[in-house]
Amino acid sequence: MASDRYSIFSVLREALRGHTGWKPAWRDADPKAEYDVIIVGGGGHGLATALYLTKVFGVDRIAVLEKGWIGGGNVGRNTTIVRSNYMLPGNIPFYELALQMWEKLEQELNYNAMVSQRGVLNLYHSDGQRDAFARRGNAMRLHGVDAELLDQDAVRKMVPFLDFGNGRFPIRGGLLQRRGGTVRHDAVAWGYARAADRLGVDIVQNCEVKGFRFEGGKIVGVDTTRGPIGARKVGLAVAGSSSRVAAMAGLRLPIESHVLQAFVTESIKPFIDCVVTFGAGHFYISQSDKGGLVFGGDIDGYNTYAQRGNLPVVEDVCEGGMALMPRIGRVRVLRHWGGIMDMSMDGSPIIDRTPIPGLYLNAGWCYGGFKATPASGLCFAHLLARDAPHEAAAPYRLDRFATGHAIDEKGMGPHPNLH
Ligand SMILES: Cc1cc2nc3c(=O)[nH]c(=O)nc-3n(C[C@H](O)[C@H](O)[C@H](O)COP(=O)(O)OP(=O)(O)OC[C@H]3O[C@@H](n4cnc5c(N)ncnc54)[C@H](O)[C@@H]3O)c2cc1C
Repeated sequence: MASDRYSIFSVLREALRGHTGWKPAWRDADPKAEYDVIIVGGGGHGLATALYLTKVFGVDRIAVLEKGWIGGGNVGRNTTIVRSNYMLPGNIPFYELALQMWEKLEQELNYNAMVSQRGVLNLYHSDGQRDAFARRGNAMRLHGVDAELLDQDAVRKMVPFLDFGNGRFPIRGGLLQRRGGTVRHDAVAWGYARAADRLGVDIVQNCEVKGFRFEGGKIVGVDTTRGPIGARKVGLAVAGSSSRVAAMAGLRLPIESHVLQAFVTESIKPFIDCVVTFGAGHFYISQSDKGGLVFGGDIDGYNTYAQRGNLPVVEDVCEGGMALMPRIGRVRVLRHWGGIMDMSMDGSPIIDRTPIPGLYLNAGWCYGGFKATPASGLCFAHLLARDAPHEAAAPYRLDRFATGHAIDEKGMGPHPNLH
């Protein structure tokens, strides 16, 4: 008997028989001639959408088309932070829905995604920043989301090794969301792929969408490197490639692509047991279960579709780290990499129909889309199945830039590179 469901019993059974009974986590499906719904992009959002389309909305005949391999995009490149510590009414309910879904995800998928609610601590360095954090924390609490404003002593108890007395950026306290934390990123892709496959979704890898097929102005399918495939509806969930893929359908999106880099050090003994973010620059850090320090910073400033960064940002990120916790200065960086961010004009995502009948859009995640994955999948599936937005994602409209309903969490204005 093949081991289908993961449990302590299947692990023991397989241990006794040399691990010969495990089935592949998902089939490597060949594309069929036609589907009810095609999702372009096998990242976290595309796979979660496919799962909820069939599981929650009962849609059959679904394919996820991925140009590379499952987990090869941003879903496997991010720094794994999940949280719902937003301030604006458009964002808090959506990201809180996502966090609540993370809390049940492993049971739902029967997959160990290493969901770790170790706490996310945003540091503040001035009175003005403290007031802004207090305001955000109050907004969160009014929406039933946990938030605690900590003074310097409380932060010192949690993370005593920070440079509290830094001459330029003294640490005065922090805003803590205890329910925030980390989730193992590629396990999320694998868990969703496995669960969707079990329910009959075709996951087609090495299948790049190269164009769209129209009849009477409506989408009727896609052209791919594995031939044409028909579909009643097509959903785009291609993250950093959104503007390029939408352009193939004649659509110009309010999105710019930028690279974001991440870094992992050699393994060291347990050192940081929460996620810490620097409030005076762009630097965030946690420690993986293997012991490596995982950290990142700001996007590279220029537009690109290349998944590699450049040295000025490496320097900038390391400067942020040294200002915050100088004792990491002698740890060696083992790996670093880049992913392409679909930066929207207000820093918030888009989950909406497009002006082209049959074409739906999930994009604009900037560098915060990993934490959104479960809710994004659920809301996009709702839109695709019912042709109406899920209430948690209703503000994420494509036309909000024209109608003046921007959701500008950072208050940066229409400058994608600053969000
Ligand atoms: C370094 C880094 C750190 C980050 N840190 C965080 C974080 O800590 N917390 C957080 O919430 N977010 C973070 N993010 C952002 C987050 O990873 C993304 O917003 C999110 O993963 C995007 O959604 P996705 O998983 O669906 O994207 P992806 O995994 O990129 O999926 C899109 C897929 O579409 C495929 N594709 C593209 N074009 C085509 C085509 N023509 N045909 C078929 N397939 C196509 C791609 O190959 C890709 O696999 C980070 C990102 C990076 C790069």
